[in-house]
Amino acid sequence: FKYVYDFAEGDRHMADLLGGKGANLAEMARINLPVPPGFTITTEACRVFLATGEPPPELGRQVGEHLAALERAAGRRLGQVDDPLLLSVRSGARFSMPGMMDTILDIGLNDLSVLGLGKTPERERFAWDSYRRLVQMFGSTVMGVDSARFEKALAGIKKQHHVADDTRLDTSDLIRLVETYQDVILDDTGEEFPQDPAEQLRRAVLAVFTSWNGERARIYRRREHIPDDLGTAVTVQTMVFGNLGPDSGSGVAFTRDPATGRPGVYGDYLRNAQGEDVVAGIRNTVPLQRLESLDPASFARLRDCMRRLEEHYSDLCDIEFTIERGTLWMLQTRVGKRTSQAAFAIAGQLADEGLISEKEALARVDGPGLARLMFPRFDTSGTREVLARGIPASPGAAVGAVVFDSAEAVRRSDGGEKVVLVRQETTPDDLPGMIAAEAVLTSRGGKTSHAAVVARGMGKVCVCGAEDLTVDPDGRLFSTSSGSSGTVREGTVISVDGSEGLVFLGAAPLVDSPVMRYFEDGGQPPREPATQVVRDVHRLMGQADEVRRLEVRANADTPEDAARARRFGAQGIGLCRTEHMFLGDRRPLVEAMILAHDDAGREAALNALLPLQREDFIGILEAMDGLPVTIRLLDPPLHEFLPDLTELSVRVARHDAQGRPPDAHETELLAAVTRMHETNPTLGLRGVRLGLVVPGLVAMQVRAVAEAVVARKRAGGDPRAEIMVPLVDAVEELRLVRAEVARVLERVSGGSGIPLDCPVGTMIELPRAALTAGRIAEDAEFFSFGTNDLTQTTWGFSRDDVEAAFFSAYLDQGIFQTSPFETIDREGVGRLVEIAVAEGRATRPGLKIGVCGEHGGDPDSVHFFHEAGLDYVSCSPFRVPIARLEAGRAAL
Ligand code: PEP
Ligand code: MG
Repeated sequence: FKYVYDFAEGDRHMADLLGGKGANLAEMARINLPVPPGFTITTEACRVFLATGEPPPELGRQVGEHLAALERAAGRRLGQVDDPLLLSVRSGARFSMPGMMDTILDIGLNDLSVLGLGKTPERERFAWDSYRRLVQMFGSTVMGVDSARFEKALAGIKKQHHVADDTRLDTSDLIRLVETYQDVILDDTGEEFPQDPAEQLRRAVLAVFTSWNGERARIYRRREHIPDDLGTAVTVQTMVFGNLGPDSGSGVAFTRDPATGRPGVYGDYLRNAQGEDVVAGIRNTVPLQRLESLDPASFARLRDCMRRLEEHYSDLCDIEFTIERGTLWMLQTRVGKRTSQAAFAIAGQLADEGLISEKEALARVDGPGLARLMFPRFDTSGTREVLARGIPASPGAAVGAVVFDSAEAVRRSDGGEKVVLVRQETTPDDLPGMIAAEAVLTSRGGKTSHAAVVARGMGKVCVCGAEDLTVDPDGRLFSTSSGSSGTVREGTVISVDGSEGLVFLGAAPLVDSPVMRYFEDGGQPPREPATQVVRDVHRLMGQADEVRRLEVRANADTPEDAARARRFGAQGIGLCRTEHMFLGDRRPLVEAMILAHDDAGREAALNALLPLQREDFIGILEAMDGLPVTIRLLDPPLHEFLPDLTELSVRVARHDAQGRPPDAHETELLAAVTRMHETNPTLGLRGVRLGLVVPGLVAMQVRAVAEAVVARKRAGGDPRAEIMVPLVDAVEELRLVRAEVARVLERVSGGSGIPLDCPVGTMIELPRAALTAGRIAEDAEFFSFGTNDLTQTTWGFSRDDVEAAFFSAYLDQGIFQTSPFETIDREGVGRLVEIAVAEGRATRPGLKIGVCGEHGGDPDSVHFFHEAGLDYVSCSPFRVPIARLEAGRAAL
């Protein structure tokens, strides 16, 4: 087995094996960009290690061979005493997990080679600084020493010398610090810091493997739905140094603005610093543009590399680079994360520039990104005091109470409070707090700081580098030098505008997003002056509509929702639930129907409901004129329309206890509720079973539909009602109901003289229905998958209870990455869908098939439904644009 690949042996398509970082380094080396030489250990080696606790037996030898080749090419050996070759050891998984796993730099330094590295006087300080970084990093990440112990020692020395900045410590301070750090390690672990460079390398590699299963990495993967079994690659690369003086430095660059998508020079640069200083946001960076005056030659070379990368990848790239004494080195690149707004803008621009096709542009955006663009923003028209200004790192508007650490953020958010996490800078340890918070606000760091990168990836609002804030986590407050607001304590509500980089005191009012307004206005071509983002969205929605095969309908049961869905582009209603029409002030009528002693009583109650139902349907059919409206017969168990058993029992008992004569109505109700009580009502008397057991119910509902159609036709409309039967298990159930539907339609048609042809179909939401779909299609004119119930009954999970009961334990243990109620379970539920599609259409070629469970609006699931050959998806009105976009992407 080959576990190690030289950069020259890989390319960008090998990310599964080499991780994103390793694959892209290989690609850059391949196109002759200046990359420090190195090699990558595969994810396969990591998987072996994670499974067995041991690296593969051949790994040591293979690493040795590649190291020897590296040493030959460099003319120096790892840790050689006079002029050592030093290495960085970095993690790099298939999917980027910024800062979640370990990195160890300066491998190869020890008590002797540090002297070789620092042999000239101007390099002495640098050598000891590098050594102290290695001992610190190795001690905490490889040997497991609490990093606070190193920080305390560092702070102690800085305090002694009255300096705030590490760069002010001199060589003798650093030598002392190395000794102190080594003592800390010995004291903590009973083991010496290893002096053997090969041993350092070996242990660093295993530490990176191990960090795949570190807590931060696991939390991150769960949030990002990254599978737990991929493992990480390890990239071993020759060190280059950005901290060799003023003609050196490190930076991060984007080929376009990752916040807005605008072309230009974006990034941060830090002189005389290593890369991790830039990302950690520990010292404030300068905008990358400044490099042009600091080092014009390197700037020009960097610009050239950026242009070549963008052309090569046809996409926005982000880049990490180091300048060592005027020589530019590329340390990393990848197709960069970006805000949703930037994603739409860049896709459009690249298509305009001819770098990608219109279809490819559509592939570059996604439904979750579109959803974020539909969120509200702050109304900035009023005069509101700005508490702080910072860098707009991740857009959106968030309001919440200030908290100063991750634990407090989690605690308050678990209690239902919205919070804003305020930190000087964030580290991967803050991840749980960032997940819990509405927004992240930091006083230090640029657009590429940890806070910015992680928040952007999560779609969280973030303002970073707000330098007028002084954060005091111990005092649980921050103070601000702008405005008159002075001090803000924990718990105070603030508003964070991640699009503008502004922070306001209190809860600022929100306004709709222009993208939401665009959809509310019916998705008309934007007229000038339209905001750029609306133009970008319009263009790609048009592309999606052109290529998609799936129709998109909406789940709606009021005329208002139907009208909105239509404006959002719905091509009909896929599910009109009728149960909502039985609630509110109609409840007494439903109660009367349930309690009726005889046919006459029941009929009277049903007759009272009839005109109300008819009016409901007229409104909806009018709003959806000319488009299909699938009306589902009553589905929930009847007891849902009656008072709760316990509450009612208490009421009756209290009545008795007070010695009052019994209330006849309540007593009767209690008897009925007791009689109808079911231990497991979701599997009880509901769905089609109701129609077969409660006389007159189906007839009343169908008559209301039929008369509504007649009324709309008489008014000159084009009503297209379809009748859908829920929770069918067996074709016989459907056959009986369908016969009754036909009788009612005939009666109304005969009475009105207006022909009625309402297709009758069924939901497929029970495993038995899916498995006997071939039979069911004999009597069904269409199918609609009710994937909520189908998921519930296939997994045997109660859809109303599982989230609270055990899903988080299941997610933690990796049984699934996403709730099967959110994203369709392709393997199980999906298989039932495939069977039902195939067998249904075998019986009835061309059978129209849709889905109306929650999955109809879920981006991943939409792709599955496309592949499964469905005709349409139906989802809530607000998700209609998202489903349209994803249906288009699925068809690419
Ligand atoms: C379903 O079960 O997926 C469905 C759409 O019906 P309901 O959610 O109303 O049970
Ligand atoms: Mg259902």
